[in-house]
Amino acid sequence: MNARPRYLSTRRHSPAVTISSAIAAGLAPDGGLYVPESMPRLDVSAFDPDGSLADTAATLLAPFFAGDPLVAELPAICREALDFETPLRPLPQHDACVLELFHGPTAAFKDVGARFLAACLRRLPREDARPLTVLVATSGDTGAAVGAAFHGQPNVEVVILYPDGRVSPRQAHQLGSFGDNVRALRVQGRFDDCQRMVKAALNDAALQSVRPLSSANSISLGRLLPQMSYYAHAALGWWRVHHAPLNFIVPTGNLGNALAALWARKIGLPIGEVRLACNANATLPEFFEGGAYRPRDAVATLANAMDVGAPSNFERLRWTFGDDDAKLRRTLRAESVDDTTVRRTIAHHAGAYGEVFCPHTATAMHVLDSLREAGDAAPWAVVATAHPAKFEGVVEPLVGHPIHVPPALAAMLERPAAAEPLAAEDEVLKRWLRDAPPEPRNDAVSAPGHLDVQTSAHRT
Ligand SMILES: *Cc1c(COP(=O)(O)O)cnc(C)c1O
Repeated sequence: MNARPRYLSTRRHSPAVTISSAIAAGLAPDGGLYVPESMPRLDVSAFDPDGSLADTAATLLAPFFAGDPLVAELPAICREALDFETPLRPLPQHDACVLELFHGPTAAFKDVGARFLAACLRRLPREDARPLTVLVATSGDTGAAVGAAFHGQPNVEVVILYPDGRVSPRQAHQLGSFGDNVRALRVQGRFDDCQRMVKAALNDAALQSVRPLSSANSISLGRLLPQMSYYAHAALGWWRVHHAPLNFIVPTGNLGNALAALWARKIGLPIGEVRLACNANATLPEFFEGGAYRPRDAVATLANAMDVGAPSNFERLRWTFGDDDAKLRRTLRAESVDDTTVRRTIAHHAGAYGEVFCPHTATAMHVLDSLREAGDAAPWAVVATAHPAKFEGVVEPLVGHPIHVPPALAAMLERPAAAEPLAAEDEVLKRWLRDAPPEPRNDAVSAPGHLDVQTSAHRT
């Protein structure tokens, strides 16, 4: 590969850019997603057998940053972003493992991408001296991870939009708990409304001229690339002991997490099969079973962070495997798991084995259960994307006992929280951005008229 790799848009109508530019831009100007022009190749022997997760990440990501000013900072970026563990924990009763990705500050895997992106953006020079407003539309977990990653960072303001009443009460509390330079807007609509409003604001040049805006959605390469690290780290550890590749079952919504596993495999990591576990939003399962790719509106499920009807990263998947759909269907399989099955899976694993999973992880556990029932004996790692304590309203009645809250989440839940209500209209958000000063405000948490989110968010 070239000394200085280039990044192209999946839609092929934007010029090739450097990794720094791709990370700073988020989306390509033609509306496509940035992808590496070619994938680097790395051998197992390139990795330090005693290295930490951050060390594995730095080795894995170095070729992507070759020749870029950020490359010298890459080890520090990885240490800063990946300062928590992603353990591969054995599940002896299934002869399988669970890859726990929820030990970061907001108890979901989105911490990895958000913290890496923030660590990169902190180091990239900006021509504009005015504060940058990072807009993020969230179905629950992304907003908290981005808020936590940028909280307290000078000259950056984060504005989180989430669908009021459609995130779990603890997710809502997290989103509103930051204060300072992070503000939450509870939108009277659905996640798709939030996403549309963010896009409309980003595309408004006049608004951008008075208030520079950026986005931190999952389509940014700065979020996707670091997600390869935990697959690499887990698969390398497995390989050194078992001399065999490890297979992964990934709870899937926008397809970012699963794509990271596939990219890590393409680079040469000892990863076997990757299975997608979806909820009732069956766009991907229908495609992989031979149907047309038919994006649609999302339906609400218990695994709300996977409520995606039009997975953005499908463009990157097609780019990665070529436009040959038949070949793509031979590469991947996806299963749709409904809410009844999610409930049954959570209750069964708690009752039979004392293992408690969040609703997202439960979709993947169900896929593992089906494989074992069908006689499959391959080594699988089920990817656990969030801590069950974030969804206690769903999980506790099913398992029949309170769930221990991890310390970082507990600390966030103890802080006061507030979110401003906002109508689900593009112009309303634009006006809010024009009028709200891009400076920390002290009234964001306690101003009268701003309802406490706990009283307004009650999903499931
Ligand atoms: C975001 C999220 C997912 C889906 O991940 P994608 O990268 O969008 O496929 C699954 N589980 C949890 C808990 C999430 O927050």
